[in-house]
Amino acid sequence: MNIRSAKEFDAASSAEALGALRSGLSGAVLLPGEPGYDDARAVWNAMIDRRPALIVQPQGAADVIAAVNFARDHGLPVAIKGGGHNVAGHGVCDGGLMIDLCRMRAVRVDPAARRAHVEGGATWGDVDRETQAHGLATPGGLISDTGVAGLTLAGGIGWLRSRYGLCVDNVVSFDVVTAAGERVTASAGSHPDLYWALRGGGGNFGVVVGFEFALHPVGPTVMFAAPIYPVTAGPGPIRFWRDFLADKQGKIGSLVEFSTVARTPDYPEKFWGQRCYTIAAVWAGDAGEGERVMQPLRDQGGLVTDFSGQMAYCDVQKLFDALMPKGDYRCYWKCHYMADLPDAMIDIALENGAAAPSDNTLSSLWNMGAATMAVPAEATAIGDRSMGWMYSIDSVWPDPADDEANIGWTRKAWEETRKFSQEGRLYLNFAGHGEDGEALVKDAYGKNYARLAAIKARYDPQNMFRFNQNIRPAG
Ligand SMILES: Cc1cc2nc3c(=O)[nH]c(=O)nc-3n(C[C@H](O)[C@H](O)[C@H](O)COP(=O)(O)OP(=O)(O)OC[C@H]3O[C@@H](n4cnc5c(N)ncnc54)[C@H](O)[C@@H]3O)c2cc1C
Repeated sequence: MNIRSAKEFDAASSAEALGALRSGLSGAVLLPGEPGYDDARAVWNAMIDRRPALIVQPQGAADVIAAVNFARDHGLPVAIKGGGHNVAGHGVCDGGLMIDLCRMRAVRVDPAARRAHVEGGATWGDVDRETQAHGLATPGGLISDTGVAGLTLAGGIGWLRSRYGLCVDNVVSFDVVTAAGERVTASAGSHPDLYWALRGGGGNFGVVVGFEFALHPVGPTVMFAAPIYPVTAGPGPIRFWRDFLADKQGKIGSLVEFSTVARTPDYPEKFWGQRCYTIAAVWAGDAGEGERVMQPLRDQGGLVTDFSGQMAYCDVQKLFDALMPKGDYRCYWKCHYMADLPDAMIDIALENGAAAPSDNTLSSLWNMGAATMAVPAEATAIGDRSMGWMYSIDSVWPDPADDEANIGWTRKAWEETRKFSQEGRLYLNFAGHGEDGEALVKDAYGKNYARLAAIKARYDPQNMFRFNQNIRPAG
């Protein structure tokens, strides 16, 4: 059966099949109007308000297979919600079948083998908590309630990227339910084409019910540097940061984040409401050494304040959570990968940081680091790793009346900085709301797009999994 338009499913005429689905599951089926339906369809970005025809909350892989088979038999496209943080709202759809993995968050650590087995609905907080119980970690994101799945499948950029690479570089195997309802292991030795595609190809290839991550000794105490400079300090501290990192590419995970000083007692009152930037950096090795080596980042002029210190890795992983509460804000994010970080780009980033229409907006210059850049272009779907830097513009605002101003400003800032990008390459988790269409996805994958489209045709010929940065099946 062809996967049809998501709007066409009629629950009333499919009551018998729905009953069979419900009674066969360990988890739940939620229809519009039923308790839990609205909670399940809510996602992090308050701009997204979509209504799936039905929501399945699987309890395990067998439930996922049943949901995928039901969708295929009824011609329904499938949205997969991991952590629900996708800014474009790809975890939820209008009309189709949504698989909400919120009941599948288990994490099992094998400390001797240095492996973590993580269910497809886990968050980074779930993973860090279990792995740090053994003094181990795998690179995750910067916010603890972001989903492991969506973040990892598009690449995954966190504090450990300089030393241990992107999240995908640490996936040893994926446990996947394909569009055919088959459960397969994708690894170097099993379905290697799928293993390659899943490392960067997003949610296009099936429902990942389990990840096997390689673990590394980290912490439990690490050094976190976070001196905050007023934008009036100018570009000097940022240029210093860029040059300082040149011979420490394998050791420090770092970004400069432009924001607004909060009106709270954590900051001197004279700076409240002013624009600022934080030179945020994590030294993943010995914390004492990190404190000594990173001290110069904190000595580049008058500070608003300085949140630096040795702290538990799990705490570092939650430090930015309060800036990004779920469902409170509207957001639109864009980015570019860049080979270099010239002074002119720093100047523009500084101007943009000062001019953002919303005080909630964050924009950042990310250093990608040695381990991320060391992966050969052909090794993963992400492709060429020569990008040393990324500029992300993460617009966040509370009021729907300000949508146009904030989206317009973000796009203008993105267009103006395009000249610094690497031929349109970008991180697909910070790519707007889909309005740039297939062209943006093709630019992001470059030469790898054709190979991804061929693998998509093999594993999802009907494009059942289309609520993502969609790769159309070849042919
Ligand atoms: C507050 C916040 C902070 C962030 N910080 C970072 C950061 O530090 N580093 C970084 O790299 N990114 C970061 N991001 C971006 C983030 O990686 C993406 O938004 C990502 O899509 C979120 O994954 P999720 O599982 O929470 O999203 P969801 O909305 O649940 O899903 C996103 C996409 O992944 C697919 N998907 C989800 N689960 C599965 C699964 N089990 N199997 C197959 N496909 C699946 C979905 O189909 C969808 O297309 C952040 C986003 C937010 C909102």
